[in-house]
Amino acid sequence: MSDDLRLPRGLTVHTKTTQFDGGVDMTQCRASVSGGDRWGFHQCTRKGTVDERGMLWCRQHAPSTVAAKNAAQAAKEKAEREKRNARYERDHTRTAVADTALRYFRQQATHDELEAAVNAYAAALDAVAAAQKG
Ligand SMILES: [Zn+2]
Repeated sequence: MSDDLRLPRGLTVHTKTTQFDGGVDMTQCRASVSGGDRWGFHQCTRKGTVDERGMLWCRQHAPSTVAAKNAAQAAKEKAEREKRNARYERDHTRTAVADTALRYFRQQATHDELEAAVNAYAAALDAVAAAQKG
């Protein structure tokens, strides 16, 4: 239940008033925002049209919208991380194949070891292809 009441990351309710602020307008979006030509944080100036968590929000700051945006951003970062990891693994196994091949020709590695290195490289290439798709 308390999880439902917690606002998504990046969203804060405007509650505080400052000497420059007329107070909280209950008909406006309740998000606390910064920027524009005003100093510090202030209440979002848009009209509150979405009723969530017992407060009104503009469409951009509705907790459900912010949560969905956060989730989309997290998914995007996860996909980029997996792509990067797959490429790193591919480069690492390619070097391992070259190293094993060199040792094989010096008769310091077995045929099975070389085959295992090549198979690992092929699997790494497949993982890169899968990460590109995702
Ligand atoms: Zn707003």
